[in-house]
Amino acid sequence: MSPPVQTLITSEKIPAATDVVIIGGGMAGIAAAWHLARRGSAVVVVEKGAIAAEQSSRNWGWCRQQNRDPRELPLAQHALRLWGDLDATIGEDTGFRRTGLVYASNDPQDVATWENWGRIARPMGVDTRMLSGSEVAKFLPGNNRSWQGGVYSPSDGRAEPERAVPALARAAQRAGAVIVQNCAARALETTGGSVSGLVTEQGLIRCSRVLVAGGAWSGMFLRHHGLTFLQASVKSTSFYTTPADAVTEGGIFMPEVTLRRRLDGGYTVGLSGQGQLQITPYGLLQARAFWRMFKSKRKGMTFGIGRQFFEGPEALARWSADSVSPFERTRVLDPPADRVLVARGLKTLQDAYPALRGIRAAQSWGGMVDSTPDIIPVISAVAARPGLFIASGFSGHGFGIGPAAGQLAAELIRGDPPCVDPRPFRYERMIDGTDLGNPGLL
Ligand SMILES: Cc1cc2nc3c(=O)[nH]c(=O)nc-3n(C[C@H](O)[C@H](O)[C@H](O)COP(=O)(O)OP(=O)(O)OC[C@H]3O[C@@H](n4cnc5c(N)ncnc54)[C@H](O)[C@@H]3O)c2cc1C
Repeated sequence: MSPPVQTLITSEKIPAATDVVIIGGGMAGIAAAWHLARRGSAVVVVEKGAIAAEQSSRNWGWCRQQNRDPRELPLAQHALRLWGDLDATIGEDTGFRRTGLVYASNDPQDVATWENWGRIARPMGVDTRMLSGSEVAKFLPGNNRSWQGGVYSPSDGRAEPERAVPALARAAQRAGAVIVQNCAARALETTGGSVSGLVTEQGLIRCSRVLVAGGAWSGMFLRHHGLTFLQASVKSTSFYTTPADAVTEGGIFMPEVTLRRRLDGGYTVGLSGQGQLQITPYGLLQARAFWRMFKSKRKGMTFGIGRQFFEGPEALARWSADSVSPFERTRVLDPPADRVLVARGLKTLQDAYPALRGIRAAQSWGGMVDSTPDIIPVISAVAARPGLFIASGFSGHGFGIGPAAGQLAAELIRGDPPCVDPRPFRYERMIDGTDLGNPGLL
């Protein structure tokens, strides 16, 4: 079942021409559209289903610098600055609150990892603070477990995924962006090797620049044009609860379960580290590139095979610009929640917080987390195809970083000075033999 994302009134028809077309109405595409439109570019977003119906409404709503890979930390820091002013700038409530986030664990390995990360991050200006076991207890009133240690990031926060991207989309529309839902992108049109348009299920939009922000589907679209994009998806289960006492105003990470206070008084609960890797044709073909990543994250991972093998973003698929594409066959990627994980998550939460006994899971859902081998996104031009840009592969953290990722994408597209050094996010690292290093933290 999908989370109850706000619906949006959008244009029915595509225009004949524009400056930039964006494929995908998730956080990445909508944030880029907002920044482009504000800077005066004519921009069209085509979304195969509904705005924010895939990952961008299914996430936990954490907006954090804490535990970011140092390569993307400057972008995460910039994103937190943008979140702080966003509601005032767009005149809407995205649900962002700078509440701080707390991580707690009994695994000495976790505590050591956070300590190491803090040593790198503090000189970069992050106000993260290690907590002893007794300090964790003070930060988590009502939690009856004892902890070895934890970490607190006071300037991080949380927002409401079901409303943030629709709010940003309305702001983009007010700034002049055209958004068309139920309109899949099928293929690029090129002239002399450069982008000259995008063929959609409604027909051609002439343009000189296209941004691929298709979330889990970006790899499939790019493969259709002979471009390798290393991307693998893991299914994650989440749910939200009925309203309950406020045991936190922010977010709490415990090794088996995470919780985030919602504006409606309930909690969004995530099953940390308990994903399902679905066996798919491209998953198998690209397994070597992801080997280090899976090795470091395999604890808690299960394996499954199902419809994704034939219909999902990593399936084998062929289509032409004038025939129905796989994107139209799956308007919304809506994997089912794992009921066993929901029951286990609720029990773990209630065991830790007796005050929450009696709450129920009001709604549960599955979501595909798309990841790159080094767990940082691609936000980049594609050198081999002038006019083509990518903002994708957000590896489980694209919601919080989204407002800044969209800004960087818009700046690259326009040729404006970038807000951060874009080199860590370059596309060519995936294809030029660069050692992608050990994967960062999720
Ligand atoms: C369970 C879960 C928990 C998470 N928790 C967090 C968190 O707490 N904090 C955080 O920062 N991140 C979190 N994330 C990650 C975050 O949600 C994603 O990184 C982010 O939403 C990705 O945004 P996106 O725009 O790249 O992709 P999406 O939101 O998936 O959007 C891509 C859109 O492109 C559309 N599309 C694809 N192909 C085409 C096509 N050919 N034509 C037209 N449209 C197309 C799709 O329909 C989709 O709407 C979580 C993710 C999950 C699943």
